[in-house]
Amino acid sequence: MKIKLNKPFASNTAVDESDVRRIKKALNRLGYYQPYEKTGITGIPDIAVFTAVKKFQKDQGLHPTGMVKPEDETIKALSDETGNKKTGKYIWRTVGDERVRKTHAALNGTIRDYADSPDPMEEHNCRCWAEPLEKSTKNRNCREEIEAYIEAEKRVEYLSEKINDLLLRLEELRNENNSIVKKAQKNIGSQIVAFILTLPFDRIGVLGELLRKYFGNVISNELLQAADEFMRRLQVVKEKIQYTKDQITMTFALLERSAEELETSKTNLEECKRNENQIK
Ligand SMILES: [Zn+2]
Repeated sequence: MKIKLNKPFASNTAVDESDVRRIKKALNRLGYYQPYEKTGITGIPDIAVFTAVKKFQKDQGLHPTGMVKPEDETIKALSDETGNKKTGKYIWRTVGDERVRKTHAALNGTIRDYADSPDPMEEHNCRCWAEPLEKSTKNRNCREEIEAYIEAEKRVEYLSEKINDLLLRLEELRNENNSIVKKAQKNIGSQIVAFILTLPFDRIGVLGELLRKYFGNVISNELLQAADEFMRRLQVVKEKIQYTKDQITMTFALLERSAEELETSKTNLEECKRNENQIK
């Protein structure tokens, strides 16, 4: 399976969301990555995906940088390995909400063969993932625990910053929304603006008809054009607001999970140090 990246993938750069999904799906198929059950595979980079990239690189004899570039050795290895993965069994998992497509909801919880089609990786636009039947119980050593702890700390910091950025973005969009409304009130009148604000966006096509019905002859072609443009601009900014809100919700969920991971990592690290001291 040839995996194509749009941009370099690394923890210190703005990544491409569809790249993140592709990398997660590939690492998931190979048993390196398991998503958070409530969000499934998302385009948001989390700690686990970088840890998984490093582990994969190590196992492939590559330098474990946690970075993947289009056309580099890591992406070639990922393409080859996912293509070769034809044996073994997994459980098809979905997020379990109403947005899961029906065909995938029907597969949820079923035991599948990695050779079966469809598999969650080839359905790269969905959030589904494969849960391997045989789980690795190999314990990490202290050095790996320290690395995991540092990674967890970095991710918490990254996600907190990301939420801050998203909140700022949301404020900007709300201001933009307000200035669009204000400008329209000036140009087409507050009564028409108030009327348009009550309309669902699928009414755009019949806006002229509706305005003429409710406001009669005062509606000139010029006014109509301005009203139409107002409604279109409003729709664009409202969609951006909704998208940003969704991103905030998702990032909060990831932050929560990362904070839990950080706690677990701390406990593991303490335990591992105690064990080491006993051996000494
Ligand atoms: Zn799916």
